[in-house]
Amino acid sequence: MTETAEGKGGEGRSVGAPGGTARRLPGEAGSLQEWLEADRGDRPAEEVLGWAIQAFRPRIALASSFGVEDVVLIDMWSRRQGDVRVFSLDTGRLPEETYEVMDRIRERYGIAIATYFPETAAVEALERERGFYSFRRSVEERKHCCGIRKVVPLGRALAGLDAWVTGLRREQAETRSALTQVERDPAHGGMIKVNPLADWSTEQVWQYVRAHDVPYNRLHDRGYPSIGCAPCTRAILPGEDLRAGRWWWERPQTKECGLHLTPREGA
Ligand code: SF4
Repeated sequence: MTETAEGKGGEGRSVGAPGGTARRLPGEAGSLQEWLEADRGDRPAEEVLGWAIQAFRPRIALASSFGVEDVVLIDMWSRRQGDVRVFSLDTGRLPEETYEVMDRIRERYGIAIATYFPETAAVEALERERGFYSFRRSVEERKHCCGIRKVVPLGRALAGLDAWVTGLRREQAETRSALTQVERDPAHGGMIKVNPLADWSTEQVWQYVRAHDVPYNRLHDRGYPSIGCAPCTRAILPGEDLRAGRWWWERPQTKECGLHLTPREGA
């Protein structure tokens, strides 16, 4: 699997570079260094997102697969500042319901959604040489597909940004239990990754959706708490782990697509 970090940082502020200087931003809750410190503790999601937008705009964007956490963040961002910057990875294997919610979000908030596709030649070679369900054969084959359809396009999407925002939560998976709200992203040159909902429970997420009437993916009503590509996602049974329906043929410890590495993994 190839990861690209092309163009990271680019021109402008250097806060995304490892070892970047801590700067206190006027009127905000603290410096970047303070936010990165582990003992800072969890802060309200709106405060974290607001700080990040002010600190990094316009070189910040939300990575959205249009799961319920992502639509919460789009709503939250739009309430603070109208110019919501969102990108999404269109792998070519997404469920119909995901395109539907993308369009409803687009209309509701009046925002442009930047989609990033995989390279045509790489997908053609993948399907020609390995078939259409190669990801079911092994973790390596699955990561190969995710690399082409997600990881490489993510590298293009992040080029030129200093920070990205995600809807990751600790409760979602074993692999996310040590997540912090603001961290450096070792998979992408040490740029800043902001996870405002890190400490939120599933119930908190849905309370927000109901309170603000946020459009969401209809698959959530059919037993899909986590939604990715159609052939790699199924509904879960009562009592199952929230991500049990993602790559359900694999062990929980392998269930990341390469978009999100922990600092320990990237060290
Ligand atoms: S989730 Fe499945 S179809 Fe989508 S990129 Fe990964 S392996 Fe390929």
